[in-house]
Amino acid sequence: MRFARRSSSAELRGAVTTSRELFNVRTPPQALDVLLQHVPARADGEEVPTRDALDRVLAEDVSSPADLPTFRRSTMDGFAVRAADTFGATEGLPAYLEVVDEVLMGHAPNRALGTGECARIATGGMLPDGADAVVIVEQTQEVGQATIEALRAVAPGENVVQVGEDVRTGDPILPRGHVLRPQDLGGLVALGVTAVRVARRLRVGIVSGGDELVAPEQAPAPGQIRDINSYTLAAMIRRDGHVPCLAGVFPDDYDALERAARAALEANDVVILSAGSSVSARDMTAQVVDGLGKPGVLVHGVSLKPGKPTILAVCSDKPVFGLPGNPVSCMVTYDLFVSPTLARLTGAVRPPRRTVSARLSRNIASATGREDYVQVRLEGRADGGLDAVPVFGKSNLIFTLIRADGMLKVPLDAGGLAAGAQVEVVLF
Ligand code: AMP
Ligand code: MG
Repeated sequence: MRFARRSSSAELRGAVTTSRELFNVRTPPQALDVLLQHVPARADGEEVPTRDALDRVLAEDVSSPADLPTFRRSTMDGFAVRAADTFGATEGLPAYLEVVDEVLMGHAPNRALGTGECARIATGGMLPDGADAVVIVEQTQEVGQATIEALRAVAPGENVVQVGEDVRTGDPILPRGHVLRPQDLGGLVALGVTAVRVARRLRVGIVSGGDELVAPEQAPAPGQIRDINSYTLAAMIRRDGHVPCLAGVFPDDYDALERAARAALEANDVVILSAGSSVSARDMTAQVVDGLGKPGVLVHGVSLKPGKPTILAVCSDKPVFGLPGNPVSCMVTYDLFVSPTLARLTGAVRPPRRTVSARLSRNIASATGREDYVQVRLEGRADGGLDAVPVFGKSNLIFTLIRADGMLKVPLDAGGLAAGAQVEVVLF
C-alpha cells in the first residue's frame, strides 16, 4: 500500500511492464559480435568430387596443377600463319600462302609451318610449330586448290591464346573459404582437379515451440496454426549449404522443450529454437537454452524490428539460437545471426547479398537506436529506375514476405526514411 501511494497507478503499471521487458538489448552488430567471439572457426573438411561441390565451402587454398591452355590454341576459324608472312598484306595487295595442312580438332597438327605456308584451323585448334598467329577466314580468299590470299596483316599472337594464358602452374586459383560457383567447378575440372576438400556440411537442428502449433499435414483445430518456421528455417539452412534436421513441434512446456533441445544439441552442430524467446510466463526458450551448457545465453534482446526477442547462445561449444516465433522475425533474425554463424563455423567467405538501388515511395517511421527491416516490392518506373514500395502488414503475416521482393534496412541511427530517398534493397 505504501508503495502504491508513492507511485501513480500508471507508473506502477509501467514498472511492472518494464520488469518483464528485455534488458541489456544490444544492437544487431554488437549482438553478432558477442556471439562470434564464442564461435570458433571449425577446421573439419571432407573430400568430395568436384562435380558435386557446387555451393560448398573450400577448406583449402587451391593452386593450379597445370598450365591452361596446355597448348597454343586458335580463338577463331581461319588459317594458322607465320605473322611475318602477312606483313603489308591488304585487299589490293594480298599475301599468298600455301595451305599445307588442316589441323583437326582434338589432334596435334601434322607438321610445322615453313615460310609462306599456312594450315586450316578451327576455333580451339592447336597451332602448328612455326605458326604464331591466325588470319580469320573472313579475311582470306581461296585461290586454287591449296592457296589462299590473306587480305590483311596479322600481328604475332593475334587470334591465339598462349600456353598458360588462362592460368599458370602454381597460380593460386581459389582461396579457402570460397563458396564454389558453377564456373569454379568448370575451371577445376579443366585442370583435372576432380576432387576438392570442402568444409563439412553442418547439421542444424530445429525445434519449434508453441502450444498452438500443428504439423502442416494436420488440419488445425480452432486456435491452432500450422508450423511455418520449421520449414522456412530448413529452406534457409539448405540455401546456406547445410543440413536441416527438423525435430518437430513441442508444447510450451519446460520439460518437453528441454528434452527436445537437448536431443537436438546432441545430434547437431547448431540448434535453433523457434518461438518462446520473449519474456512472458509462457516463454521458456531462454531458460531452456541456459540449461543446455556453458556459457549459455550471451544475448537476449536485440534493438531490431522485427526480431527484438532474439536469443544468442553457445552451449558446450555449439551455437544455439532462440528466434522469435513470428515468421517474418524468424527469417530476418536467421539472416542476421544464424547465417553468419554458419559461415564462421565453416570459414565461408560469402559474397555480399545482392542489392538494388531504388527510390522509396513513401515515408517510413522508425526509432533511432533500432535497426528496422522493411519489406518492399520493387516497381519499375518509366524512367528506367525502380521504386521501393513498402509492403506493410502486421508482422505475423507470412504473405507480406511473399508479396515483397526484398528488404530495406533503416539504419540504427536513423529516425526513419523520407519518401523519395534513394535506398538499397537487399533482394530475397
Ligand atoms: P512467440 O515467439 O512464441 O511469442 O510467437 C510469436 C508469434 O509467432 C505467435 O503468434 C505464434 O503463434 C507465432 N508462431 C510461433 N511459432 C510459429 C511457427 N513455428 N510457425 C508459425 N508461426 C509461429
Ligand atoms: Mg509462443
